[in-house]
Amino acid sequence: VRVAGSPALDWPALRDRVFSRLDDTAEAGRQGREETGWITVHRSRARFTGPRRLAVDGAELTADQVVIAVGGRPVVPPPVAESGLPYETSDTVMRVAEPPRRLAVLGGGYIACELAEVFCAAGSEIVVIEQEPALLGPQDEQVSAEFTDLAGKRWDLRLGRSLESLDGGPGALRLTLDDGTVVEADMLLAAAGRAPNTGGLGLDRAGVEVDDGGRVVVDAHQRTTAEGVWALGDVCTPVPLKHVANREAEVVRHNLRHPGEPRAAEHDLVPAAVFANPRVASIGATEQRLREDGTDYRVGLARTADTAYGWAMAEPPGFAKVLVAPDGHLLGAHVMGPEAPTLIQPLVLAMTFGLTADDLLNRPYWIHPAMTEVVQQALDDLGG
Ligand SMILES: Cc1cc2nc3c(=O)[nH]c(=O)nc-3n(C[C@H](O)[C@H](O)[C@H](O)COP(=O)(O)OP(=O)(O)OC[C@H]3O[C@@H](n4cnc5c(N)ncnc54)[C@H](O)[C@@H]3O)c2cc1C
Repeated sequence: VRVAGSPALDWPALRDRVFSRLDDTAEAGRQGREETGWITVHRSRARFTGPRRLAVDGAELTADQVVIAVGGRPVVPPPVAESGLPYETSDTVMRVAEPPRRLAVLGGGYIACELAEVFCAAGSEIVVIEQEPALLGPQDEQVSAEFTDLAGKRWDLRLGRSLESLDGGPGALRLTLDDGTVVEADMLLAAAGRAPNTGGLGLDRAGVEVDDGGRVVVDAHQRTTAEGVWALGDVCTPVPLKHVANREAEVVRHNLRHPGEPRAAEHDLVPAAVFANPRVASIGATEQRLREDGTDYRVGLARTADTAYGWAMAEPPGFAKVLVAPDGHLLGAHVMGPEAPTLIQPLVLAMTFGLTADDLLNRPYWIHPAMTEVVQQALDDLGG
């Protein structure tokens, strides 16, 4: 977290460090594939012209098996797209020449918050426009509420507001919100959701169905509705995350090689993290979901600042929260604070392997002092 008076990040150094690594890795991967002798790489957009038939580079390709892995793209709301004014998305914003003086962020989800955090650290003033009453809305209500409170101390939050129109000029944008207020900014980041890249892919010609959200429909084995056509990753998954795309790629690879013993991709217990400050990590049900579903549950909660390690770290904000069924099995877990994406992992294992909260608390030793004590204390808070 950048505190008042501390120096901002060296933007060109950060940007160049990130992209020298990413661009080099992408290029090395591409070259590696081209040099195998058994992969032909077409550096071009593909679209279906028929069942397992693709137009690429002006040529037509056919194959016995086709895998669709075209990902997703940012959704740009009409007032932005139709304004004719410049805007950034998560695809472009990390490459800008210098951080803006004032960055308006449209959206309050995880991508918006992570990128707002980066530009805040680089010295930009941040104003976030979000139509929901809190940031990180899909998270557990306590995470969302406490994260929003903390963000509101550093960023100008316009919550419960949507964008009506965008005018002004490049570098001097004027965003008019639905309550008539105006936000001035020199750069706009549109981070108001993502959509699968299915438009223009000719999927109807291939016999590949999409759902109402435009996602390719797949079965548990990643098969689409067209014979010999598979899909994986953001183009089809209910959980658009990197570790899920990787898992689905493993499943497709196995199923192509071993059609007689197909594997299924599981999406029930996928953990996720938000790399903002504080960090957030979660798995399973939120408290509001359990309440709405009428599920019985108990809550265990511990604050990072109340652990020995948290005290030594000058009492950062954050907590661990566990939601447990009457039979002791974990229904959900939510961690906010330093190293949250690492701290959640014992809870991910416990849920995946069906351990009860009591077993997880009492059977393994928990190192003292360590940040994991916040998880131990949340389990202990359930009271046996
Ligand atoms: C800003 C941001 C931050 C994120 N942070 C995280 C995170 O911290 N953790 C996490 O787990 N996930 C994160 N994600 C999500 C993660 O990046 C995606 O889930 C993952 O990249 C999906 O992989 P994919 O292979 O499905 O698609 P992609 O990685 O999007 O790859 C799809 C590829 O297909 C190409 N393509 C598209 N259309 C065509 C076509 N017609 N012909 C040929 N090629 C085409 C695209 O150019 C692209 O190279 C983040 C996403 C964003 C945008």
